[in-house]
This record gives sequence, C-alpha cells and structure tokens, in this order.
Amino acid sequence: MAPPTDPPRRAWRASLLRFVADPGAQDAGYEYFPDGLLLVDAGRVAAFGPAETLLRELSTEIPVIDRRDCLLLPGFIDTHIHFPQVDVIGSGGRMLLDWLETHTFPAERRYEDTAYAAAAAEVFLDELLGNGTTTAMVYCTVHEGATEAFFAAAQRRGLRMIAGKVLMDRNCPEYLRDPPGGGLDATRRLIARWHGTDRLCYAVTPRFAASSSEPQLAGAGDIVRETPGLFMQTHLAENHAEIAWTRELFPDARSYLDVYDRYGLVRERAVFAHCIHMEHADRRRMAEAGAAAAFCPTSNLSLGSGLFDIAATDAAGLPFSIATDVGGGTSFSQFRSMDEAGKIAMLQGQYLSPLRAFYLATLGAARCLGLAATIGSLATGSEADFIVVDPQAIPLLARRRSQSTTLTELLRLILTLGDDRLIRTTCSLGVPVHGHA
Ligand SMILES: [Zn+2]
Repeated sequence: MAPPTDPPRRAWRASLLRFVADPGAQDAGYEYFPDGLLLVDAGRVAAFGPAETLLRELSTEIPVIDRRDCLLLPGFIDTHIHFPQVDVIGSGGRMLLDWLETHTFPAERRYEDTAYAAAAAEVFLDELLGNGTTTAMVYCTVHEGATEAFFAAAQRRGLRMIAGKVLMDRNCPEYLRDPPGGGLDATRRLIARWHGTDRLCYAVTPRFAASSSEPQLAGAGDIVRETPGLFMQTHLAENHAEIAWTRELFPDARSYLDVYDRYGLVRERAVFAHCIHMEHADRRRMAEAGAAAAFCPTSNLSLGSGLFDIAATDAAGLPFSIATDVGGGTSFSQFRSMDEAGKIAMLQGQYLSPLRAFYLATLGAARCLGLAATIGSLATGSEADFIVVDPQAIPLLARRRSQSTTLTELLRLILTLGDDRLIRTTCSLGVPVHGHA
C-alpha cells in the first residue's frame, strides 16, 4: 500500500463528530454536525462545520466525497497494544503470568527472525487500519530487528505510530533475555534512527518491573531523561500474583508504582497499562506527575485480571484512555473495547456513556499522549487522520438505527453491534489507507 504522500485538497460530506472536552457523565464536550463538511488540505484539517455554510465558500475545483449516510470522526488511538501478539490473540483462559509463559513468550521468540517480524508487522497494521485505528502505542519484542521492521512498515504507510523494543533482562526465558546492558544500547540505537523520523515516535518499553533488573530500569530512566519528547510505556498493577511477585522482588519499594517512580519513569508521556489494583495515593501520584493509565477492558476480562475503577481514576484526576491490549485483549476493534468498558463500569455500579467511550478512544487518548494538538481532535490545523463509519454495513445495526433518534443512541448501537465491517474508510493525512474514498 502506498504511503499518503502529497495529499490533495478534498472535502468529505458526512455526519461529523469531534470532541473538544471530556464529556464525563454529561451529554457534552463534543461538536456534531448531522450534515457536515470536513475540508482537508495538505494532510491537515482546513475546515470542519455545517455543510450548508462551508459548501457556499468551497471552490468548485475541490472534489466533495459524499458520505451523508455515514459518520465521520477522528481515527481511533490505541494507547496499549503488542504487535507480535497478532500470533497470540484468542489464547486466553489463563491468568497473566501463566499466559505469558505458555503462549506469549514462545510466540514472541519467532520475532528473532526479522523477515517473519516484517511480515507480521504488515498484518498488524492492516488490522489496526481495518478497525479504524490510526495511531497506536505499540510494544514490539526484545528484538531490535523486529522493532526496526515495525517502524519501517509504519513509515512506508506514512502513519503516526509510537513504538518501542521491549526491555527484559531477567525472569523470562533465556531466548528472550537482553544481555547485560544490551537492551539499553539497542534502545539508544532505535531512538537515534526512529524517534522523530517522519510521524514516528519512540517509547522506552520495560515490559514490567518483574522482568527488568534494577540497572535496566535505572538505564531506562536515564534514557527517558536524556531525550526530549520520548514516550515511556509499561504495565502496572494488572494481576494479584504479579503484584505480590513485584513486592517480593522490590521489598524496599513503597508500592508497585514506586518501583517505576524511583527510576524516574513516572512522568509526562508515560502510559501505564491496566492500573487495576491500585492504592489511591498511587493514582494521585501518577496524575501529579502527568502520567496516564490505559484501560484495557477485553484483556482484563479475558485474563481474569480485574475491574478498572473509572470513578477512582477520575477522583484522582488521573487521565486514562481505552485500549485493546491485543493479544491479551481479544479484539483490535475499539468498538469492542468501548462496549466491554461500559460493562466493567456497570459491574461496579458506575456508568460510562457512549459519548465518553468515544472520547476516551480519540481525543482523550491523544491527551494522554500529549498529542491533542496533533491527532484525535480534527481541530483546524491538526493532522487529518479520520474514519468513515457506515452504520448501514451491518443490517441489524441499520434496522436499529432507523428506530433511534439521538447521537447517543447511535453511538451506543455502533459500539454494541459494530465491528470492522463498519469501517468504510480509514484516512491518514486525509488519504485513504483502508477502504476507498
Ligand atoms: Zn499489555
């Protein structure tokens, strides 16, 4: 697939939705034009508003793609996903540590073969784009070559992706273990090659505290401090056995979060996946440091990890997003993530509105990454990464839609009944990278 180079000026007429604030529990924080027009110029949003007004001023030379039967919104942003786990998805039924040993580590071993990794990267990116995800924060494997292959594949398609080589130098199979110091050297080489190259960014990626030695965690902290704009991603407080094990390995730490904190890894642009079994003080510490949580509903249910507490996270002022965590997660589709997120809220007597669910997978996720001025908003001047959702693509949804009247009802139908069939077009910098114009 060709990268989206030299995008033409083009307008899309559709129902338009974008967010400007966190809707919270309110029916607010969004802009919706049932008959709207999005104008893209040189890959960026030039105008977003009611079609009636914008069409009057539009040059007749600019083609208008008519999708009035569809909903156009920012592309999804998946803040936590593992690229090699395209080969693990659908292997749940075990708790985290057992699942890693039984399924994940053997699958990740195959990525020592860079050609294998390069082919899998294409499958992974096809899945992301086919499900309407235009940016993801991605764990590769411990292999430098596999990480290189992922970045190269994303670069060829012109995508905005954040990724990193997994750091892991203990408590893992020998065949996936960084040699002493080796993981940090490889990380530095990958940062030099890829961080800030085209639309790509690097995330320093210790898998989790238990699988990195103290020198490796300290080195990860040094690297994040040295390079402006770097991201950091890891796992936190996912599963009771993992938490107890971490406590044994780091007996001096006040908490699981404190292990990362003492190495300078709790900071802006740091995304911690799961954050389920947490003390409130740690949520507050993350918020104060400018870090964010990634709520991974299908993974948390599939691995029996626990229920993410939205109310406690909000009470701490901790930003969070909704993510898939494929392959612990069971679907690339953020519709599935949103639907399961709502159920997890209800199991705790909480409520997640459909509007907020869509926010958490678009602008809310961009805010967690510090990229809200760039992606996820469709604000004027931002990058034109968006999706065209066709509610007619699923007959049952089309039938139910004909009976619903409000935007909230439509969004609930989409996240309940929707899957990749709904993603008619995915655009990167205004150019289709999945489906057709
Ligand atoms: Zn994960």
